[in-house]
Amino acid sequence: MTVDLHLHSKASDGTESPAQVVRRAARLGVATIALTDHDTLAGIAEAKAAAAPLPIDLIPGTELSVDWPTGKMHLLVYFLEPIAGPLQNRLAWLREGRNHRNAAIVNRLQELGYDVTLAEAEAQAGGPSVGRPHIADALVTKGYFDARSEAFHDLLADGGAAYVERVRLSAEEAISLARDSGAVPVIAHPYTIGLGRAEYRAAFQELTSLGLGGIEAYYPEHTPALRSHLASIADQLGIVATGGSDYHGTGKPGLEIGTGRGDLIVPDHVVAALAASRIT
Ligand code: AMP
Ligand code: ZN
Ligand code: FE
Ligand code: FE
Repeated sequence: MTVDLHLHSKASDGTESPAQVVRRAARLGVATIALTDHDTLAGIAEAKAAAAPLPIDLIPGTELSVDWPTGKMHLLVYFLEPIAGPLQNRLAWLREGRNHRNAAIVNRLQELGYDVTLAEAEAQAGGPSVGRPHIADALVTKGYFDARSEAFHDLLADGGAAYVERVRLSAEEAISLARDSGAVPVIAHPYTIGLGRAEYRAAFQELTSLGLGGIEAYYPEHTPALRSHLASIADQLGIVATGGSDYHGTGKPGLEIGTGRGDLIVPDHVVAALAASRIT
């Protein structure tokens, strides 16, 4: 059995449709997946329908960027159903913030001399959650770059020449909205939050007291030592050590569903532990 709890589709910035992602996972023998598109649940209905006839379980989810003083903190939210609810209702506001920011980024690019429009970036997206990756894809289509990652490197990365901030929830607010919606919030890829190994425990203890349900320990960019360090912190805090590939199709080359770069193993028991966290 294989588990992968961090996947993106065209509903945000992956390059495959939700159904294609589900079928690929099933073909690879993955038993449980979570679709975690940025700021949207738009892909969940299609993913559920694709999973229904296949030997695969689908957990509905999303990935949020939240405010954090020392680095980039992302929050994965599991068992978030695509219905009205406290967090679900805030997702539209987050996407609206993306739209304002996308327009500002495109303006900045035009000032820098790039011939690109917001409509061209939106045309690259297959769903309602449009972001920097689609602007990067538009620049690639226009011939300015060979790959999404090069547009990020030269212009769109945090702090880059065309970077613009966007509105975010605070970590506390996102965690409590997730719990109020019957979902389980988990810190994604902690290596990006700008803390040293010795600082994770205190930070996650504080967030656990606010309702955090897990830590994404098993992640392609984490060394084996960091994976076990984070898993042991989760253990000590009584929350779940989760994991996933962060598959984006060809949008993030070199990653496969279920195995990441070949060395990703997410233990099966994570799924039941997460489900238990939902109701306690
Ligand atoms: P946004 O959600 O619009 O802020 O864009 C952030 C997303 O862009 C991330 O979630 C990644 O999927 C993608 N991304 C970030 N950095 C890079 C990069 N260097 N190359 C390609 N994609 C990236
Ligand atoms: Zn992404
Ligand atoms: Fe992320
Ligand atoms: Fe992600």
